Amino acid sequence: MRQNPKLQGIQMTMQAGVLAPYQFLGDDTRNIADIIHADNLTVTQLETTHATIVARMKYFAQSGKKSIGHEVVVDECYRVVAEEHKGSVPCPFADNYQARKSVIHVTNLVLQRSVYYTDLNIHMIEEHQFYEGIGAPYRVDPRDVVEILNVRNNK
Ligand SMILES: [Zn+2]
Repeated sequence: MRQNPKLQGIQMTMQAGVLAPYQFLGDDTRNIADIIHADNLTVTQLETTHATIVARMKYFAQSGKKSIGHEVVVDECYRVVAEEHKGSVPCPFADNYQARKSVIHVTNLVLQRSVYYTDLNIHMIEEHQFYEGIGAPYRVDPRDVVEILNVRNNK
């Protein structure tokens, strides 16, 4: 899929690695428009929405941040640990959004599966429907996050 010049510019910034010490695209060879399109399809197949996913991610982030650096058990079947680091990281979509450097780890104790994500992931999914490229250290796989966080479907 061809992407518009603005998105192309954003992709160049991401590839240069100027905003963050980690990569947003990993070793994904697709452009941003294609990554967003594919994840949109997955979310539709899972019969949910980005907004529903984000609400669930925020729920665990807020629960974990009540006790930074410590394990919190949420709803008896999730173990949550929130880490917070100094400073902030700008959103690569050039909208002047600065995310706190927080990482939220959630383990589903029933499934024995874990996922982790940052405040920037939450923002990018909410505002840009961007889950990052495959191989990126903070890629959020929509299927994993829906299963592990028990995101309800919208049927
Ligand atoms: Zn943004």
